[in-house]
Amino acid sequence: MREFDFIIIGSGIAGLSFALRAAEKGSVALVTKRGRADSNTAWAQGGVACVVSEEDSFELHIRDTLTAGAGLCHEDAVRAVVTEGPQRIAELIEIGMHFDHRETLNGENELDLGKEGGHSKRRVLHFQDSTGMEIERTLLDRVAAHPGIEVMENHMAVDFLTTGKLGYAMQNSCVGVYVLNEATGVVGTLRSDVVVLATGGCGKVYLYTTNPDVATGDGVAMAWRAGATIANMEFIQFHPTCLFHPEIKSFLISEVIRGEGGILVDASGRRFMEHHHPQKELAPRDIVARAIDAEMKRSGSKCVFLDITHQPADFIKSRFPNIYETCLRYGIDMTRQPIPVVPAAHYQCGGVRTDLNGETSLRGLYAIGEVACTGLHGANRLASNSLLEGMVLAHRAFEKTTRNRPPRVAFDLPEWRPGGVSDVDEMVVISHNWEEIRRLMWDYVGIVRTDKRLQRAATRLRNLHAEVQEFYWNFKVTTDVLELRNLVTVASLVVDCALSRKESRGLHFTLDYPEHDDAKFLHDTTMRRT
Ligand SMILES: Cc1cc2nc3c(=O)[nH]c(=O)nc-3n(C[C@H](O)[C@H](O)[C@H](O)COP(=O)(O)OP(=O)(O)OC[C@H]3O[C@@H](n4cnc5c(N)ncnc54)[C@H](O)[C@@H]3O)c2cc1C
Repeated sequence: MREFDFIIIGSGIAGLSFALRAAEKGSVALVTKRGRADSNTAWAQGGVACVVSEEDSFELHIRDTLTAGAGLCHEDAVRAVVTEGPQRIAELIEIGMHFDHRETLNGENELDLGKEGGHSKRRVLHFQDSTGMEIERTLLDRVAAHPGIEVMENHMAVDFLTTGKLGYAMQNSCVGVYVLNEATGVVGTLRSDVVVLATGGCGKVYLYTTNPDVATGDGVAMAWRAGATIANMEFIQFHPTCLFHPEIKSFLISEVIRGEGGILVDASGRRFMEHHHPQKELAPRDIVARAIDAEMKRSGSKCVFLDITHQPADFIKSRFPNIYETCLRYGIDMTRQPIPVVPAAHYQCGGVRTDLNGETSLRGLYAIGEVACTGLHGANRLASNSLLEGMVLAHRAFEKTTRNRPPRVAFDLPEWRPGGVSDVDEMVVISHNWEEIRRLMWDYVGIVRTDKRLQRAATRLRNLHAEVQEFYWNFKVTTDVLELRNLVTVASLVVDCALSRKESRGLHFTLDYPEHDDAKFLHDTTMRRT
């Protein structure tokens, strides 16, 4: 067993931001399941929403966030993130982050602010179209320079150790975590009074997603198994525009292209968003995703097209170098032809329920970033609010963990007891189950839902859960088995939350109850393992 002052699981914006602060106060273990830069953060393109312009105001950013959230945002969370954002951005710039600037008509230099759907002002700070990669690089450089942070790459958190499960007669608390070292196959025990989940989202639960492979919902599944409260998992955001090409798994075509005048057309070149919303292409994401879904179903096409060819080629190449190059590699020249796009699972608005300091319902366990549900996003996330939330909540959680810290209690933590000693004999079963979960979630729990499809998904997931548990107990654990176990748990949570919301709101749209029902459902959906 190894002991640390802080254990942080995940090396995206939330985990790294927390680690840098925590390292000033004590020893830090930063556990991350693949390479240190493997994260949703590194894939973020558009940028970070923050009030920095004189034409903008906190009240406008708050109003836009509340409007997108369709009645479920917690206003205190929205206020905290929006008003504390500028300070966190200033700190990020101070440690080396570079955001794009532009020259004004008066020859002055100012931050170049992008505009995205649902924002009433230009307020998205960016670095070309690779903002997340630049943030990740900045934070990782600082982490590498800090001797107090031990980065454990290719180490996967498996489950928490709690006093309840260990049989201590005290308030149930998280006191450590089991971690699989992928290289050795050994599961070790890490002990701390402060365990911070920063494991990101669960896009991989769906067949089509913009998320990288690490996004398998591990944090939510682990917190659920440990008895923490989970909230609002029915609100999965589908990004309207993912590149549609047989050779590419998941590549996002940023919303900023629509912000810069890109229009959506069908295969015959007909613009359709004006029939769906007055803000047309810049309507909130859920509305654009549903409109595309409806157009595809109506016409039977496999995709629609995003057309920005009216902008000068030089502007497109300099503003979107990453998207331009990637499309070109797959034979699409976006300066001359429209880009084929489809919607794909993008962001988990729900997660482990926390307060405004990242505290979960399980003592000693904190959750920050996409894995957490603070109340900021409500029923639908406003674009580019998530990177900001990761930074603000990392700061707040750090402050909380270091305020009035009780003295460390000694616990005798048991070593991991492996369920089985032999290797998984049939990898095909794992890959089959993995694909089956992702396809059934796409087909039955996607952009447009019905009770019948959700019920069907629930039944199938129950069977899959039993099969996966058998694997978990009978064979040596591997990341594949552990991810599959988490995937089936998170998929079930999405379905159960969706089934309990008998109305349509924000990202949850069901044909059986197409309207809001404020009288019955103007509240979060919460779930807890009993
Ligand atoms: C293509 C794309 C574009 C986006 N664009 C934007 C944007 O422009 N603006 C914006 O605000 N948001 C954007 N988002 C969303 C945003 O990137 C994420 O919400 C945010 O980066 C999440 O940060 P995080 O630190 O919570 O998690 P992540 O950055 O996802 O990091 C999670 C970390 O946890 C690790 N991990 C997971 N499970 C385990 C485990 N069991 N054990 C150990 N480690 C584990 C992962 O390996 C990873 O290091 C985008 C997302 C995608 C996918």
